[in-house]
Amino acid sequence: MNNFTLNHSDKKPNIAIIGAGLGGLIAAHQLTTSGAKVTIFEKDHHAGGRAQTVSRDGFHLNLGPHALYAGGEANKFLKSIGVTADGAIPQPKRSLATFEKELYDLPTTPASILGTKLMSVSEKFEFGQFMLSLETHDWNSAMSLSLEKYLETKIKSEHVRAVIKSFARLTTYGNNPTKISAGAVFEQIKIGLQGVYYLNDGWASIVSAIQTKLARDVEFRFESKVESIESTDDGVFVTVNGIKQQFDNAILAVPPKVIQKLAPSAIPSELVPKIIPSRAACLDVCLKKLTEPENEFAIGIDEPLYYSVHSTAAKLAPSGGAMIHLAYYLGEEEATHKHETRLLQLLDQLQPGWQNELVFKRFLPNMNASFGIPLAETNGSYAIPSPEVPHMKGVFIVGDYIGKGAMLVDQSAKNAIAAARQIVDAYNLENSSELQLTATPSL
Ligand SMILES: Cc1cc2nc3c(=O)[nH]c(=O)nc-3n(C[C@H](O)[C@H](O)[C@H](O)COP(=O)(O)OP(=O)(O)OC[C@H]3O[C@@H](n4cnc5c(N)ncnc54)[C@H](O)[C@@H]3O)c2cc1C
Repeated sequence: MNNFTLNHSDKKPNIAIIGAGLGGLIAAHQLTTSGAKVTIFEKDHHAGGRAQTVSRDGFHLNLGPHALYAGGEANKFLKSIGVTADGAIPQPKRSLATFEKELYDLPTTPASILGTKLMSVSEKFEFGQFMLSLETHDWNSAMSLSLEKYLETKIKSEHVRAVIKSFARLTTYGNNPTKISAGAVFEQIKIGLQGVYYLNDGWASIVSAIQTKLARDVEFRFESKVESIESTDDGVFVTVNGIKQQFDNAILAVPPKVIQKLAPSAIPSELVPKIIPSRAACLDVCLKKLTEPENEFAIGIDEPLYYSVHSTAAKLAPSGGAMIHLAYYLGEEEATHKHETRLLQLLDQLQPGWQNELVFKRFLPNMNASFGIPLAETNGSYAIPSPEVPHMKGVFIVGDYIGKGAMLVDQSAKNAIAAARQIVDAYNLENSSELQLTATPSL
């Protein structure tokens, strides 16, 4: 056990946070509002991690498609600190499904379920029943079943199973139906049904809003790649450029592969194979204008495809321009040229003649949308049960591959808040953030 629950009386702790992604920034906010001294080490020359946005020629490109869940933990955190998600919930004129390379109406509303030619009447009935049960069913009973197993046993039509899997990919980024927990997926689809925000100027807008709040109290050390973390009875030692610095605690808000290098004992070796990422090959496309303005959103039913014009909901392109994100959800495979070709074919189908309007595009082959998935074999929890690191006193890990109960940035936020709360409690610090006082610590 990490015996960090000791009472450290009135001392203001000196905390190192490794990684200035949203996880690290949220932890920093929670700690500084309680009076802790925080230093953030970030290997890049800016904050944001995977939530960074590149701005060019009036376009704003997130690292692949990014949508903030309106009902998720990260948005709750932002609201609690007075940051409004500046953007909008996309409401496409028409949502499409691709099946056997043909386009159909995607069944998202009662009207589109009735109207779509994607399913037969009996399939529509089965799908409608499932959608109705989503809100009311207690999904705890499906936490230890894989998505594949659940669908095999509960849904008769293979076609309806394929439609449900496409919604699962859309909301979780996971394309690992034999491993991901069905209960966790359905809880995530429920959150997705509350809507997502596409953010004006991209996710960098929330990164900089939090960073601005931290500017006075946090010492940012950019271009500081941490080399190792050691925990001793005297404190936690962080080594950067060969120089060791002493802190009371460290929060490692970095990818699991980095943690394995920095502090090899932090993640037990038997858990490593269970940290299964959700990965995607992403194609980000900026156009002078859309050639088919109606085609705003599509997902693949028999192929793991995603297409959405993010600039229809958020300010991500200059006037008249369009910023489109496409993605191919990867399973175990590595992305190749074949994935890019398939995404370009989809773009041809939805925006014919797009080449004449192209400003620029980029292909990002193997993106970790989430470093882990909640597993059926661990009853819907991620492989690593909690941010507290056993056997490393004062050390915590934060990210979207730890704990239980949410996904993507929402899980990172949840862990960040829980880790900060443990430190705050251990030092008897007062926390001025309402969220900190009300958020559940259970992971
Ligand atoms: C393609 C894609 C799509 C996504 N879509 C969504 C979405 O729609 N909705 C959603 O909720 N989430 C989405 N996510 C996930 C979301 O971006 C992350 O969960 C979120 O940004 C939180 O990340 P984090 O802070 O946990 O980790 P990261 O953002 O990965 O931050 C880790 C930080 O650690 C730094 N670092 C690494 N090694 C070191 C070192 N040795 N020393 C110092 N610093 C180091 C890195 O530079 C980085 O800044 C998506 C991610 C991707 C890639």
